[in-house]
Amino acid sequence: MSNIIAIVGRPNVGKSTLFNRLTESRKAIVDDMSGVTRDRHYGVGEWTDKQFTVIDTGGYVANSEDVYEAAIREQVLIAIEEASVLIFMVDVTTGITDLDDDIAQVLRRSDKPVFVAANKVDNTALYNEIHTFYGFGLGEVYPLSSMTGSGTGELLDEIIKKF
Ligand code: GDP
Ligand code: MG
Repeated sequence: MSNIIAIVGRPNVGKSTLFNRLTESRKAIVDDMSGVTRDRHYGVGEWTDKQFTVIDTGGYVANSEDVYEAAIREQVLIAIEEASVLIFMVDVTTGITDLDDDIAQVLRRSDKPVFVAANKVDNTALYNEIHTFYGFGLGEVYPLSSMTGSGTGELLDEIIKKF
């Protein structure tokens, strides 16, 4: 399959908020094939003339820190396999955490295009904080606010070039 965007990142960075925005007013595709896929949500969206599937990863249920990290790592590996493009979402209000670094390490080994999205850039003052995310070595960092929608168009403009 092609034109599949997977949103990966640790909990609370805003993945589902972006997913809802990208799949706005569209019926989410429910996939209940397995426990693993149940942890993901599928939706469809479009930007200019391009249609795409969006995968929201997350919603893990785990009872210890280790299991939790392993579950996230597994979701990222599945997303790499399944998607044509990955959005690695991080949170400008917290900066880089250990879990972010862990996910970045997995993504650097991926042969799929990765777009680093610095979320929660709700105002221009926060724009200066995004430079830290260049430290991942995953290329360009796209500031956005999933809440207000600012920056999402610029990110999608670049993503659809890969389709
Ligand atoms: P997920 O766990 O990565 O799916 O994150 P969610 O989409 O559930 O969002 C986690 C929290 O961050 C929620 O309280 C959201 O309202 C909030 N949030 C998401 N996007 C933004 C944003 O662009 N700006 C701000 N300030 N908060 C956001
Ligand atoms: Mg979520």
